[in-house]
Amino acid sequence: MTPHLTAGQKAQLTADLEQRERQLREQLDFHLHGQSRVERAADVLGQDNDDPAQRRSEQAVSAALGEQERAELNAVVEALTLAKDGQYGLCRSCGADIPFDRLRACPWATQCVSCAAG
Ligand SMILES: [Zn+2]
Repeated sequence: MTPHLTAGQKAQLTADLEQRERQLREQLDFHLHGQSRVERAADVLGQDNDDPAQRRSEQAVSAALGEQERAELNAVVEALTLAKDGQYGLCRSCGADIPFDRLRACPWATQCVSCAAG
């Protein structure tokens, strides 16, 4: 059986994944450290002029962003693991080839279009 991705296509997608992984780790770092800096600053000031509801919602937004990035990072890491095992580009549900165009748009896709939709 011939792999549906050429070595060049695979190398390109893997490079995209590795770049995305770095970006996501940096963004997560930024959120985590940014948030703890704000909390430290509030402690140092020792007074709370902020609207507590406003602050809670800001923290919720920050946490939600972190969640989304963590989920994406997991998918990226999973795709890179599959690439190492030679399973990259195959739908994990039905085993079908995931077309190169779909992987270009979303290199961490682990399902074909019909399985992802179903
Ligand atoms: Zn499928």
